[in-house]
Amino acid sequence: MLDQWKADLQQFTEVLGIRAPRIVVKRSRFEPIWCVTSWSAKPGAWAGLNTIVVSPQLLSCSPELRRYLLAHELGHIARRHSTRVILPLLVILLCVGVVSFHPLQPYLAPMPLRLFIAALFFSAAGYVLWFTRGFAPEYEADAVAARLIGKDAVILGYLRYGRAVRGQHDHQASQAPKEVTEDEVTLTVVSSFPPSLKAMKSDNSAK
Ligand SMILES: [Zn+2]
Repeated sequence: MLDQWKADLQQFTEVLGIRAPRIVVKRSRFEPIWCVTSWSAKPGAWAGLNTIVVSPQLLSCSPELRRYLLAHELGHIARRHSTRVILPLLVILLCVGVVSFHPLQPYLAPMPLRLFIAALFFSAAGYVLWFTRGFAPEYEADAVAARLIGKDAVILGYLRYGRAVRGQHDHQASQAPKEVTEDEVTLTVVSSFPPSLKAMKSDNSAK
């Protein structure tokens, strides 16, 4: 089953012109380096540091859901979301390190230098907060997915994924998620998708 995931992934990376990331199957998506954000007992798919992690429960899902999950997670990798969090975190660490390193104190006396370090610190901290607390990375990943599988398939995939994950307690893991109705799709487009995705024409989708 993993072969089908790898085959789709290969096809998508060729379209995007990027190197194929690693794909691994894990019962929990816990990664020590992402310990704060990655812990989840629920099955799911997740991307970080050029790796896509998939729960075994999702391996036998429908081809449509598989392609949505891969396209979305690949979107996170294509838009370099790991790097865009790690770099500002390193800047924050560097600022704190420089300011608290005692032998450097005489050199840190000039006010412009202090203001520069403070500005750097608050810019990096603000960026990390904006990036990790909002839905911006998810919308970006879905926009890449829409290029790969089409806007309608992204919306359907988003709904199917919700069903597949929420249904885990009540159903067998391998049970296919219930089909999604047209009404639900319309409702989702109107209520929750970002303007960029809403504006995309359906007909430039299915490739
Ligand atoms: Zn995501």
